[in-house]
Amino acid sequence: MKKCNVRSVVQDDFDDRVDGYVIHHIFPGSRRKTSEKYGYLYKLTPDVHRLVHEHPNKSIDLMLKREAQRHFERHYGDRNDFIREFGRSYL
Ligand SMILES: [Zn+2]
Repeated sequence: MKKCNVRSVVQDDFDDRVDGYVIHHIFPGSRRKTSEKYGYLYKLTPDVHRLVHEHPNKSIDLMLKREAQRHFERHYGDRNDFIREFGRSYL
């Protein structure tokens, strides 16, 4: 069984059984490490994962980013803090 050493704070059934799934960093690229730091990861099927990356900042991708930002603003700081960490606001 494949394991991962990351956690998600936005997906309830996220666990370390990643067989058949892809661990998606909600904020990719240069924000990848920051996504891991806060737990903004989501377990997706490969098909959905491909869609998320094909339509950045739209539909599912935007929904996940908004969910993560709402979580951040509830638990870590205000909008300016979020923008400092993730570059822009999605709400
Ligand atoms: Zn991804």
